[in-house]
Amino acid sequence: MTGETLFIGIDMGGTNLRFALVARSGAVVYQERTRTEIDRGLEPLLERIAGGIRTLEGEAALRSSAVGGVGIGVPGLISPDGYVHSSVNLVPLEKINLRQILAARTGYSVRILNDANAFALGESFFGGGRDFPSFLMLTLGTGVGGGLVLKRKIWTGTDGAAGEYGHATIYPDGRRCNCGNEGCLEQYASATAIAAAAAKAVAAGGATLLTEIAGGKPTAREVADAARRGDAVAAGIYAEAGRALGIAAATIANLLNIDALLLSGGVAESFDLLAGPLREELERRAFPLTAARLAVVRGELGEDAGILGSAAAAMG
Ligand SMILES: [Zn+2]
Repeated sequence: MTGETLFIGIDMGGTNLRFALVARSGAVVYQERTRTEIDRGLEPLLERIAGGIRTLEGEAALRSSAVGGVGIGVPGLISPDGYVHSSVNLVPLEKINLRQILAARTGYSVRILNDANAFALGESFFGGGRDFPSFLMLTLGTGVGGGLVLKRKIWTGTDGAAGEYGHATIYPDGRRCNCGNEGCLEQYASATAIAAAAAKAVAAGGATLLTEIAGGKPTAREVADAARRGDAVAAGIYAEAGRALGIAAATIANLLNIDALLLSGGVAESFDLLAGPLREELERRAFPLTAARLAVVRGELGEDAGILGSAAAAMG
């Protein structure tokens, strides 16, 4: 082997399973995408992952390169040794040590990490977190995922459950959350929450463009479009999400005095609608020193943060 060592990054979602062969620079040399198809059960999934790793090994060999290790981002509560405590979307993976199983099947060193942590690590190595040694990343999608990077390392916590800041309490008697708590950040700043708030505003019968979109049930993106067309109700829904994020950001600024808050995911595409209310709440609630230090920026890698962060985990 004469080429540079390459690393395999795998992003396992509820729907898609992505594989990438990544150079130390973050360049994606080769990639493949398939379906997770978890309903077929555990063994077919393990075989597809092992098969994907063999395919990428072949691609590395074509480039006279060796594979230096494998990293896999998995949705769920993952202990640092690769044991999957729970995975709501991929239940058959629960209570197994995925790292040991795949290391035994493939012969490679394997690292398993939470998918949101993989996203944060990807941004830290190759994206919007490069200039910020310590940051919190929030992925605003169907839910709100969180990953905490301290001095360029993921902080996983004692049990691997750290960074779940989507379930920080923002309003003590607020909206009920799937996690059992009330008033979680996720209930205000996720795409699901924004769509629900829009449907509620339509049902309340106010004068808003939202009534005419998608039968009164607009998506978060459609709410953003309406806000940009001057709809006050739509803008108010994004302002509420921004305020919830600002309250969350103030706590994290005072607790950790980190460099940045990175926002990614579908809702972060409307960063312009969130940023003002977010900054206002942050400055109202945090110390001037910690609020001024905390840059609020968008992630740069989009969905690729998952494969890149998983590969970064394999780089060690
Ligand atoms: Zn919650």
